[in-house]
Amino acid sequence: MSSGIEATAQARHRTVPVEVGGVTIGGGAPIVVQSMTDTDTADVEATTRQIVELARAGSEIVRVTVNTREAAAAVPKIKERLASLGVDVPLVGDFHFNGHKLLAEVPACLEALDKLRINPGNVGKGEKRDEQFARLIEFACRQGKPVRIGVNWGSLDQDLLARMMDENARAASPKDAAALMREAMIASALESAAKAEALGLPPNAIILSCKVSGVQDLIAIYRELARRCDYPLHLGLTEAGMGSKGIVASTAALAVLLQEGIGDTIRVSLTPAPGEARTKEVIVAQEILQTMGLRAFTPMITACPGCGRTASSFFQELAQEIQDYVRAQMPAWKMRHPGVEAMTIAVMGCVVNGPGESKHANLGISLPGAGEAPVAPVYADGERVAVLRGERIVEEFKAIIDAYVDKKYPKRA
Ligand code: SF4
Repeated sequence: MSSGIEATAQARHRTVPVEVGGVTIGGGAPIVVQSMTDTDTADVEATTRQIVELARAGSEIVRVTVNTREAAAAVPKIKERLASLGVDVPLVGDFHFNGHKLLAEVPACLEALDKLRINPGNVGKGEKRDEQFARLIEFACRQGKPVRIGVNWGSLDQDLLARMMDENARAASPKDAAALMREAMIASALESAAKAEALGLPPNAIILSCKVSGVQDLIAIYRELARRCDYPLHLGLTEAGMGSKGIVASTAALAVLLQEGIGDTIRVSLTPAPGEARTKEVIVAQEILQTMGLRAFTPMITACPGCGRTASSFFQELAQEIQDYVRAQMPAWKMRHPGVEAMTIAVMGCVVNGPGESKHANLGISLPGAGEAPVAPVYADGERVAVLRGERIVEEFKAIIDAYVDKKYPKRA
């Protein structure tokens, strides 16, 4: 019987691979996690700091807005600072309205970037639109930089929409407004890609995205895009929102498409709560891919929800401690223990499902529920290997995890 991973991989939408600063997007490569900074790009220190955080959290590509001359001038400095810190994550410049001018005024900005993101709806109006789009593509061609043509329904090319509305009004069976909007977004992406190719940008330097904030619209648009082109597709629900709503909406949309083999790189556009780390969007993106069995980034903790049998909040605290612990260990483990990212750990609240779930995981601990003897059996690969009790359960369980990782995922020679 084939695994879910194989089944999904076999069904993946075939795309032309694009190299972005040493990271391959498309062509069957692992689905790439990316993110975007929310600092003022002109602030070199703050932007560098956030890129480092995002990269260390697992973002494989980071996008920065390039909206002013100061921001453009900061990009090469940020690249240098990153290099001095040993962070070589590819950088993408996000351009709207004035990208053609900024790239002309600050050539070092283009040199420092690994990819350009161009929004065809924000390149310019009328005749200027084509001219400014052409200049951006010429810059990319000259420096051999790939381009994401990123359509967004909040900034859809109004000239194209007006043209399509006119055509639709004359059609024998006109489309409804939602279907027309979806078609206009797809047309904007595909027509822009065709123009870019006509201007000399090779097909293996083009990535497409068509972002909307509605789950069903996003699914419909990307299914159609995948049917009509073989450019790699960047998936993301734009303006997904805050907290659980943003996570659920992004997951609902992306999971359907990823399961159908559509999508070569993803970004989860969460609005952080005040004070919340920007890295949350990276962790959510990784968790979408890992829980679907498409990639593995860090050991996953399985924990029961707790119920009336839960003796205290200790099992929640233990689950959180262990989750934080394995995340904190991952940078070192990744170097020393190949394969550890696929490890599973169960933290369970009582004897009902505790031993069973623990046996299914690589490592599991079943804490005592209300009325049970105050002991916590620990399982490794389905076998009971220890029984913990007393005040030091957390430390002892961490030590068991460390020993298991050392033995199960031996160091490279
Ligand atoms: S494992 Fe026990 S404590 Fe956890 S949800 Fe199930 S019955 Fe409740």
